[in-house]
Parts: sequence; C-alpha cells; structure tokens
Amino acid sequence: MIGTGYVGLVSGVCFSDLGNDVICVDNNLNKINDLKNGIIPIYEPGLEELVKKNYKNNSLKFSNDLNDAVSKSDIIFICVGTPTKKNSNAADLTQVYNVSRQIRNSINKYKIIITKSTVPVTTGEEIEKILSQKKSKNLFNVVSNPEFLREGEAIRDFMYPDRIVIGTKSKKANKILRNLYSPLISKGSKYINTSRKAAELIKYASNSFLATKITFINEIANLCEKININVEDISIGMGFDKRIGSRFLRPGPAYGGSCFPKDTKAITITANKSKVNLSVIKSVIKSNENRTSLLLKRVFKILQNKINKKNICFLGVTFKANTDDMRDSPSLSMIPALVKKGAKVNYYDPTGEKSDFSKLKNVFFKKNIKLALHNTDLVIIHTEWNDFKALNFKSLISKKNFAIYDMRNIYSPEKLKLANIKYFGVGR
Ligand code: NAD
Repeated sequence: MIGTGYVGLVSGVCFSDLGNDVICVDNNLNKINDLKNGIIPIYEPGLEELVKKNYKNNSLKFSNDLNDAVSKSDIIFICVGTPTKKNSNAADLTQVYNVSRQIRNSINKYKIIITKSTVPVTTGEEIEKILSQKKSKNLFNVVSNPEFLREGEAIRDFMYPDRIVIGTKSKKANKILRNLYSPLISKGSKYINTSRKAAELIKYASNSFLATKITFINEIANLCEKININVEDISIGMGFDKRIGSRFLRPGPAYGGSCFPKDTKAITITANKSKVNLSVIKSVIKSNENRTSLLLKRVFKILQNKINKKNICFLGVTFKANTDDMRDSPSLSMIPALVKKGAKVNYYDPTGEKSDFSKLKNVFFKKNIKLALHNTDLVIIHTEWNDFKALNFKSLISKKNFAIYDMRNIYSPEKLKLANIKYFGVGR
C-alpha cells in the first residue's frame, strides 16, 4: 500500500487481517515511526486494535522505503492523496504520478499496479505511459480499483463492501484480484469487472450522486423551514420509496470531508474537457458552497444580529462523527466568520484540539463538554457524535437565556420546548 492515510492504512490492515502479507509505505517518516510504535495517526474506530494485532503477527509492516516494498510485492495499491489543484477545480495528480515514477524503478517481475486513490478518467492510461517508458508492458498491468469506504465506518465498509469494482481488461490481473477479494465476495459483496475508464468514472459518479442527494434534501429543508413543515416527515415519506432509499436524506450543514467537495469539482473538469456540461453537479457544488452562509444567517437571526461578545459553543468540529478529519469541514468557515463578528467561540470535539483554529483569536478548545458549554449563549451542534445526544443543557449551562441550534436534528423540538429551551433545528 503506497500512502498510509485514511484509505491506505485501513485497506492495508484489512488486507493483512484477511491473510495477506502487507507493507504500508509512506514518505512521512513520523507517521511510519509512530505506526511502528503503536501510535495510530488517525482516529478510526477499531483501527488501533487491528493494526496492533496484525503488526504483532508480522503480516503488516510499515516502511518509508518505497522501492524495497514495491520490489517485494505482487500487488501495489496507490493510495496517495488527490486533492483539488490550487486555483482550479481539477484533481491534483502530482502525488499519483510521483509515486508511479518511483514504482517504475522497482518493477523486477510481473506486478499489478492499482489506483485505489480517486483519480480522473484516463489516469490509468497516463500511469501506464509512465511505467512503459522504462519497463516492458508484459511486466505489469495498471488497474483501477476505487475505494468506497466511509471514514468513521471504514473497517466495516472495507470488510463488507456493497461492491468491489475492478477496472481492467487483463484476464490475468482480474483473476488475481478476484482471488485477493474472494473472502469478501464469499460474504456477499458484488464483484464487478469493467473497463479501467469506467471504474475510474464509477467512483466520481457515485460520490457526485451522494453529494446531490444531500444537497437535494438540504434545499428541501430550506423550503420546509419557510412553510413550517418538518423535513423529517419528508425524508421518511420519500425514503420508503425503494427507488429513492432513505440514506443520505438527512439535512444538515454543507457536505464536507476529503471526498465530496473535491470529487464533485473534479468530475466537472473531466466533463468540460469533453465539452459536456454536468449542470446538475455544478449546481450542487454552488448550492453546497452557499449553504454555510445560509446557516450562518440563521445563527445571526437566532442571536438577533447581536453577535459581538456572544459566547458560542460548537459541539463537534469535524465534518462528520467518528473521524478526526477536518478537511473541508463546514466549521472551518463558520467559526472564523463568527469570531470576525465579535463572538467568542468555545469548541469541544471528541478527537481533540484542532490546529486549524490555533491562529484564530477568541477560539478556545475545551477539554470536555461541560467546560465548553458553561456560560454559553448559543450551542451549535455541528457534528453528530453520540456524546452529544443526551445532554442536560439546563444543568450544564449557567446562562438562563441560551439557545440551541441543532444542525443535525439530534434533539426533539417538542421536548426542548417543554423544557423551556430556545431550540432551532434544520428544516423544522
Ligand atoms: P491521506 O491524505 O489521508 O493519505 C495519503 C497518504 O499518502 C499520506 O499519508 C501521505 O503522506 C502519503 N503520500 C503522499 N505522497 C507519497 C509518496 N510519494 N510516497 C509515499 N506516501 C505518500 O488521503 P486519504 O484520505 O487516504 O485519500 C487517499 C485517496 O483515496 C484519495 O484519492 C481519496 O480521494 C481517496 N478516497 C478517500 C476516502 C476517505 O474517506 N478518506 C474514501 C475513498 C477514497
């Protein structure tokens, strides 16, 4: 596994748990040293135990020597980052191509080189060109095997995927990979062998569709707020339709994270190159970008536009629960906007303090929920951690007149109204 981040580490440890010998490589030496010492660089439920177990029995190794790891391996997964380019919506493939050039030097026998990173259509062709500059095409196959795991549920998602997508026309590579994934196929996962380009696009189309679903219900929630309907009734009413399905129909803040924002942008660039206008996805991106200011306007309204010197408490700052990933989290734009207007922000996140806010004046990480909530005027429930689901706000907050803006609709409006608490949800 090249790249030992959220995808590479989880996939690597799971493959080793399935009985394979795995080397996880990263060029971040601190990360590799930490892992060798049992320190897990990311928060992902269940990961630490699985890493320790497989490291101890020697089926999982960590290394910063890419060439050595490649020369010893039959199957190489590229799991490095593909962020958005600076000043463009396109995917930045620098890490993927750098790694490909390095791999090329160590191909000493037949190897399958796989992109598990999310890469635009035709990246596989480009990698093939890079490798064939120095090595005979008989010595390798370049395959697309996009990863669909979700942070927070990554191990379960890896071990029980809905589908495994393998993009290759090579019968040899397909046979080896079907065998690699056979423990998951025998538990019921669908194995789909398709063209490499189709596999690359399946990933982008899937993420764009999910982002569209979230954005759709977020906009329906906006309408519900105006006409006094509970959006949850709409989600339930829609979700039972099997053509629609109930998942990803819960409104909240803008979608964030390391995938949806960058992948929706990158697919529009791929389409633009072919002179195809993906107008639905483009409007999803726009709607999502507007969402943070829409939710901020609601915050201003709740505080009657008196933001200066108000104490605001954020419960959770990551883009979703059960992860420490801050990439493109809505809190990254909400918190600075509030302190700019004079608010003082306390925040608590179960995954600890975030360096993203360390340079901001008047933003304070608190060690526990109690310290974060004390003396607050407005509680913003930003992330849906279980830790926030059964709080007795009245006993935790010293001020009498506080309000709650529950951006995840965790609490019952009726119950909080009965308790005489000013409560606002999303789309209800
Ligand atoms: P990440 O940033 O957590 O990990 C990438 C790792 O690659 C880092 O540890 C980095 O140090 C390492 N790296 C970069 N260049 C390297 C090099 N030359 N040699 C060795 N290591 C190198 O990224 P991630 O979240 O794991 O995502 C990786 C890819 O998987 C992306 O394309 C992403 O879109 C895709 N993906 C991510 C998720 C997710 O939930 N995070 C899910 C599915 C797919």
